Amino acid sequence: MSSHLAPPSLAGAPSSADLLSLLSGFLQGTRYEGNLQSLMVCRPNIEQDPPEAVFTAILESMRANSDRDPLTGLLNTSAMEERLTSALAFARRHQSKVVLLTIGILGFRDLRDTLGRKKSDWILQWLAQQLRTVVRKEDILARDQNEFILGMAVSKVDDVEIIVSKLREIFNIPVPNIEEHIFISLMIGASIFPNDGGNVDDLVVKSQTAMRRSPGDCQYQFFSDEMQRGAKDRLQMVQDIRDGLEHNEFAVYYQPKIDLMTGTILGFEALVRWLRPGKGMVSPGLFIPAAEESGLVVPLGIFVLRTACAQLKKWHDMGYMHLHMAVNIASQQLRDEAIVRVVEEILTSTRLFPDRLELEITESSAMVSVEKTIQLLASLRQRGIQIAVDDFGTGYSSLSYLKRFPITTLKVDQSFVRDLPGDLDSLEIVNAIIAMGRSLGFKTVAEGVETAAQEAVLRTAGCHAVQGYLYSKPVPAAEITPLLSKSFR
Ligand code: C2E
Ligand code: MG
Ligand code: MG
Repeated sequence: MSSHLAPPSLAGAPSSADLLSLLSGFLQGTRYEGNLQSLMVCRPNIEQDPPEAVFTAILESMRANSDRDPLTGLLNTSAMEERLTSALAFARRHQSKVVLLTIGILGFRDLRDTLGRKKSDWILQWLAQQLRTVVRKEDILARDQNEFILGMAVSKVDDVEIIVSKLREIFNIPVPNIEEHIFISLMIGASIFPNDGGNVDDLVVKSQTAMRRSPGDCQYQFFSDEMQRGAKDRLQMVQDIRDGLEHNEFAVYYQPKIDLMTGTILGFEALVRWLRPGKGMVSPGLFIPAAEESGLVVPLGIFVLRTACAQLKKWHDMGYMHLHMAVNIASQQLRDEAIVRVVEEILTSTRLFPDRLELEITESSAMVSVEKTIQLLASLRQRGIQIAVDDFGTGYSSLSYLKRFPITTLKVDQSFVRDLPGDLDSLEIVNAIIAMGRSLGFKTVAEGVETAAQEAVLRTAGCHAVQGYLYSKPVPAAEITPLLSKSFR
């Protein structure tokens, strides 16, 4: 662009102000998107300096600004492309590696719809400022619409972890200067030169594909070929889930939990099912990942919570007041304090006792943003709501952390139950989890119990409750009602 700007003849010695207005007029006819005011800021002595010096300074400043994204001041995409191309050429000559990260905000579209453009622009600006603080001077950092691209020459791929762990610390606080209490959850995808591609376009697309597989919470995904094949299908899946929610295609099934002391049903776990017209029932393992990726797991989770609470109230009204309901809560639902209000509103409208509701969270979702999660769970606990850790033993299992969480129940993962009683490792793990749960004052529930032999081991270990196909598969509410007074001994 600057090549179009031939310096005017200075023979008539126009004043600096004339020159500026000339430039300003010229700029309006060009594609220059920066702010003329920002050009002037760089020359405080505009009235004193000789016009040619002002002109040169403005040109220089324009050249620098034309590389920049006006909203965040980071590189724009064309400057990024240019610099990355050079970085790749350098890496090719020196047989070194370049990692390209695409960083996005989970559920940004919903955030923008809720907060409006001004606040969501501020979030992008704040994010850009934060990113600047963790990158090195030689790294290439750019904004591409709602995403950020970071190119780094690395000696080893593990260096990604260093950057990402810094990001985790930074984004553990709510976005400042807006009244809504919003924590942003970053999705990060990575591609590597030369492994994943030889040119900028290829690497950017691949890191974007990988980013869409990131569950948020600053967890990153490296690109793999399998992702590319799956990406198209998932996009379609997200659209189908959106349509499914609109057309009431989702249902809630219930699986009883049996009290090992009494042999009777003490409560249920609510499990979502997708009844797709013409395709039969789809299990959550197939659609929850896409729902999480797209943020749709939040409205879906609210639907499950509402439906399950309303159903439990019906069973209470039939006289089974002791029954409780456990509902799975996705990691994303835990990132936002709105969950506390939603749960409260649902409990009030269904007129349920809060202590009859249990929320199941996974270890991994609890372990990200630990302090924030503890706070949020504590405010749920204060209201009497029970908190279970699902799939216990498969995640971080950090005992010191666990003690700090206000939880009430441990759910022993079915992978440990599956090989009972024959497998000694499983036996030891199950015994240890139950003993530990007991000493910390938690109830223990074993999942995936399919045989009487498994039940016997769990009973001996002192497990409180069991859940599995031995008693019942997850079924629609109508099939549960006849089981309510049944003994499973
Ligand atoms: P989960 O919460 O650990 O649920 C237990 C899973 O084990 C369920 O699979 C259940 O059908 C299955 N199961 C129960 N008993 C047995 C058994 O004896 N043997 C075996 N092999 N499996 C058993 P399902 O319903 O397919 O759900 C899978 C996962 O999907 C759940 O794991 C949970 O993480 C997620 N999920 C289900 N419903 C929801 C929901 O409403 N919201 C969220 N966020 N996640 C959900
Ligand atoms: Mg569960
Ligand atoms: Mg589980």
